[in-house]
Amino acid sequence: MPVLAIVIPVFNEEPVLPELLRRLEGVFAALPGLACEVVFVDDGSRDGSATHLAAAAAREPRFRLIRLSRNFGHQPALTAGLAHAAHADAVVTMDADLQDPPELIPDLVAAWRDGADVVLAVRTARAEGGLRRVGFELFHRWFGRVSDFPIEANTGTFGLLSARAVTAFNALEERHRFFPGLRAWLGFTRAEVSYERQERAAGTPAQTLRRLVRYALDGIFSFSYLPLRLVTYSGLLIAGSGFAVAAFFAFRRLLGMEIAFTGFTTLVMLVLFLGGVQLIGIGVLGEYLGRIYDEVKRRPIYVVRRDDPPARS
Ligand code: UDP
Ligand code: MG
Repeated sequence: MPVLAIVIPVFNEEPVLPELLRRLEGVFAALPGLACEVVFVDDGSRDGSATHLAAAAAREPRFRLIRLSRNFGHQPALTAGLAHAAHADAVVTMDADLQDPPELIPDLVAAWRDGADVVLAVRTARAEGGLRRVGFELFHRWFGRVSDFPIEANTGTFGLLSARAVTAFNALEERHRFFPGLRAWLGFTRAEVSYERQERAAGTPAQTLRRLVRYALDGIFSFSYLPLRLVTYSGLLIAGSGFAVAAFFAFRRLLGMEIAFTGFTTLVMLVLFLGGVQLIGIGVLGEYLGRIYDEVKRRPIYVVRRDDPPARS
């Protein structure tokens, strides 16, 4: 029987776990002909999530639990889950907080059975409000244009990967991971299923706004050279105008015209402006350099606690 694995990173999600487990079990029943299993990745939760999931795994063999040695973050946890699902014929990736409804999984599976290797769950509505919402909207609107190849808007973690796509994904070694971008990079036959993104079932977002901003920056710096190009263009522009101004004054001088010796304000402005532009340029370079440094260190993306079952393959 084909194996369907559902990978779910979990960080301090104790309040939603009972409902999550109940709804997942309901979905198993709606998927006859598939051997389902859920790979929970506990990302160093500080509440009772790990204990709760360990108890669930002891009761129900279709629930598996991988525990990371500390909190590594959403992307590393997802990466760990996919590495532990390499034996499956299809892998669904989703969040634990029930913003991604498990009841959509049969639709994702149907699209996979119709031949898609990558099935994307596309949000038609978003439950978040306020600053988060503005941030998400701006990011999705602009990111598609900025990245070096198209990345589907309004898609997140939720979706399905075929065994081929999972193998290809697991072969990627980069440390700064931006899942929607990497999934777009993979290619393969794609399909989309739309859904309404729900409110978090309980608890507060585990991802702080600061982390989301870092995540967005990872997306931009991993998939675009635009920041570097902008520095180059502004350098050309400033150098160009400097040259034009210099030529203007040189001509005046040659023609014997007088040059009034004022312009202290202009001078101060120019010095500060150019200093600022140069620092921004160095900052942009630094973002890329820091990421290169992280890549060459080649630290593992996550560490699994030793008492957990090894990856099946
Ligand atoms: N998560 C995680 N490690 C973290 C933060 C979050 O594994 O350090 C999990 C979290 O439990 C949830 C998913 O990643 O299943 C998405 O987190 P959240 O709902 O906070 O993110 P958002 O919905 O705001 O993108
Ligand atoms: Mg969420």
